[in-house]
Amino acid sequence: MKKRLLIIGGGAAGLFSAICAAYQAEQSGKEIEISLAESNERTGQKLLRTGNGKCNLLNRTAKACDYFEAARDVLPVFAHTPESIEEIFNKMGLVTVCDSASRVYPKNECASSVLNVLRFEAERLNVKFLTGFAVTDIKSSGGLFTVKAAEDIKCDRIIYCPGSPASVKDYSGDRVLKGLGVEFSPFSPALCPLNTKENIKSLKGVRAKGRVSIITPDKTLSQKGEIQFTDNAVSGICVMNLSRFVRENGAQLSADLAQEFSVRELADIISDKAKKFPLLECEFLLESIVNKKICIYILKSLGISPASKISALSRENIQNIAHKIKNLSFTVLPPRDFSRAQTARGGISRKEIDFEHMSLIKYPNLHICGEVADVDGPCGGYNLYWAFASAKTAAESAVNDI
Ligand SMILES: Cc1cc2nc3c(=O)[nH]c(=O)nc-3n(C[C@H](O)[C@H](O)[C@H](O)COP(=O)(O)OP(=O)(O)OC[C@H]3O[C@@H](n4cnc5c(N)ncnc54)[C@H](O)[C@@H]3O)c2cc1C
Repeated sequence: MKKRLLIIGGGAAGLFSAICAAYQAEQSGKEIEISLAESNERTGQKLLRTGNGKCNLLNRTAKACDYFEAARDVLPVFAHTPESIEEIFNKMGLVTVCDSASRVYPKNECASSVLNVLRFEAERLNVKFLTGFAVTDIKSSGGLFTVKAAEDIKCDRIIYCPGSPASVKDYSGDRVLKGLGVEFSPFSPALCPLNTKENIKSLKGVRAKGRVSIITPDKTLSQKGEIQFTDNAVSGICVMNLSRFVRENGAQLSADLAQEFSVRELADIISDKAKKFPLLECEFLLESIVNKKICIYILKSLGISPASKISALSRENIQNIAHKIKNLSFTVLPPRDFSRAQTARGGISRKEIDFEHMSLIKYPNLHICGEVADVDGPCGGYNLYWAFASAKTAAESAVNDI
């Protein structure tokens, strides 16, 4: 009888692992039935939303050290370099382009092309698709698995890749493994906007370039980039990359909106303006330095009326305004809302994982890949690259051992 490999989760990692398993089976002359179970009626729904619909499928410079606390653990998976993963996509028929930040996209900037290429290749390789198939439990006995869903399935190997709760309505990936006693590190939203304690609704729609720092009791982390103000939240890639570090109440986000100048230089520039235009309203004081809405926010936060005349400003006022431009601070709240997160911190605890084979130490025939593992990376193609590289590791190992 043919051995049976069941992949649970038809997202980026699941589709890619099905293809890699089929390639490996073909190469090693093994006859394996490969099925892919997906709870939705269609596979790859999250993939369609990636990169604002353009799908930034990997980053050519991705390295193990980009994966925060998991940096050392993930090293074996990096044997599959970003170039080698891109090459597999190219061989499947996806034409890719790379931007100046090493982010790789399909040439037509359509995420649906990435999904189609994966689906067509999996179909060509006779992967059996089981859609609308929500797995609820897995039992292990005598080296075989029984997978519980509307209909039970027996299989020899599993690749488990249900993703994370990020941007998902009803996540069950942790519950399914409960019966097997697999430990999960608690999930928390990552790559998401940060809500502020202060009311910053007046800044909605503003975008400003700068350097953002997150200051927590134990560390300060900074990134340059574009800060976007949304409905009482700050966003933008630099903020999203730092969001995973906001774990407890009391963290501060401080933005330097004039990195080119020191506080003193800024104060001099503002003083000169004040001398030239004493009769103008204060709301025009920071013209060409920061966005008008930011100027008004800064003035109000210092108790200065935007409608008052510039001539009324004291030296100390000007000093404080210059300081605020370089230290615009908000108290940010730990993210709780998975619906706005692109990825999640947490997942199957790294101490449960054999990263050489992307399998569980307690159940070597149960492989895992993608976001269900406690591994996450920054924006820029790092999370999909992890999904694909870990999927290849899991698939090759599952087929070799079967
Ligand atoms: C809006 C958005 C934009 C993003 N943009 C990018 C980007 O441009 N570049 C990048 O690198 N990363 C991006 N990411 C992150 C990236 O999408 C994920 O890291 C990646 O999809 C993870 O792949 P995965 O296969 O592990 O999980 P998923 O893609 O989430 O797939 C998991 C699949 O498993 C299925 N499933 C879950 N539970 C069960 C069950 N019990 N039974 C059966 N099936 C189940 C789910 O329905 C789902 O289809 C983005 C994420 C979001 C939300």
